[in-house]
Amino acid sequence: MNKKIVRDVDASGKRVLMRVDFNVPMEDGQITDDTRIRAALPTINYLREEGALVILCAHLGRPKGQIVPEHSLAPVAARLSGLLDDEATFVDDCLGEQVAEAVGAAQPDDVILLENTRYYPGETSKDKQEMLAFAEKLAAPAQMYVNDAFGASHRKHASTFGVTKFLSPCVAGLLVEEELTKLQCVVDADQPGFIAVLGGAKVEDKIGVVKQLLPRVESLLIGGAMAWAFFKAEDMEVGESLCTEESVAGARDILATMSDYLDTMMLPVDVHMKNVSTGETKYAPADGIEPGWDALDIGPETQQKYAEIVRSAQVVFWNGPMGYFEEPPFDQGTLAVAKAMGECAGYNVVGGGDSVAAITQMGLADEMDHVSTGGGASLEFIENNGTLPAVEALDDSE
Ligand code: ADP
Ligand code: MG
Repeated sequence: MNKKIVRDVDASGKRVLMRVDFNVPMEDGQITDDTRIRAALPTINYLREEGALVILCAHLGRPKGQIVPEHSLAPVAARLSGLLDDEATFVDDCLGEQVAEAVGAAQPDDVILLENTRYYPGETSKDKQEMLAFAEKLAAPAQMYVNDAFGASHRKHASTFGVTKFLSPCVAGLLVEEELTKLQCVVDADQPGFIAVLGGAKVEDKIGVVKQLLPRVESLLIGGAMAWAFFKAEDMEVGESLCTEESVAGARDILATMSDYLDTMMLPVDVHMKNVSTGETKYAPADGIEPGWDALDIGPETQQKYAEIVRSAQVVFWNGPMGYFEEPPFDQGTLAVAKAMGECAGYNVVGGGDSVAAITQMGLADEMDHVSTGGGASLEFIENNGTLPAVEALDDSE
């Protein structure tokens, strides 16, 4: 890795500002999945053992520069305290007097969690001066910076990027190191034997990654609602299936600009669809979607075909579910690909919020070589050929 990591510097006795990705899913004030909190523990514990005071900052949801109680990190502080063998101190603000007081009262090796950075508009501001002014205040109590928020590292925000202008050294945490090392294998992969599987809903968000991957993969398998955008772009009937104008425009862009590589792209040959008025479900060939029907999954023939290709791959990167997996039986396509990934002896990586939720729910996450904690970040890392803005801002290794 060409960036300094936390092991490369002396943190003992230092006040360390550490950016973490604690953007956990919540329902009625309860954390429904604490994977992201657990993922930060190795670096937190490492710093404490070094005798550093760990000042954690993070965002939760999109409060848009205002104090929105539903987006408070207080429940995260409680869960973190349970996971550490020690109480984490929660501070009701991320800058100013309250923070200074808590930092002043803390012992080396204590852990402090600051309130949601996105309660301030400066955190995500496009106005660079405003962003940097906020970053300077956020950095004020600390002496060095650790970025362990892989899932937020594609953002040039105050807490991921701006603070590096005010603190030194600035290094990567152990989670960021692991993510970068493992995802680099996907960036370095080349055909033959390199397979990408892309699905989910929004083609417009994934155009960049499709363009980056298409010339390098042996096959790009398309599933999920993403496939219907390509169908529609080719004037096929998609009935009531999820298919936005933006997605179709994205698909047209790919068809028009990537013509040299389209023979490596595979689309579903059959679908599993549901009648929107009667609720009846049936399989149909790809060109058999009828008005009044909603294609919610790839069909059995496609599942078998995709699974076979995935099983024999050397490197597989997967993002985006193959169908509306939240509603069985439309989880079958996603399940077929997930099982095939598990059976594949090659190197397999899954990235993406919903794809990761799907394999976790199916109990197959442990079968993968790497499950990325960052959806957007993992896609952008691949799209940018192995760089992310918040990682680039860290100190170079010597
Ligand atoms: P990820 O978070 O893994 O990148 P996306 O956010 O792009 O994936 O898309 C995930 C969502 O797409 C899921 O909620 C899934 O139910 C939905 N989806 C996938 N295929 C279909 C489909 N054929 N019809 C309706 N929804 C679908
Ligand atoms: Mg998603």
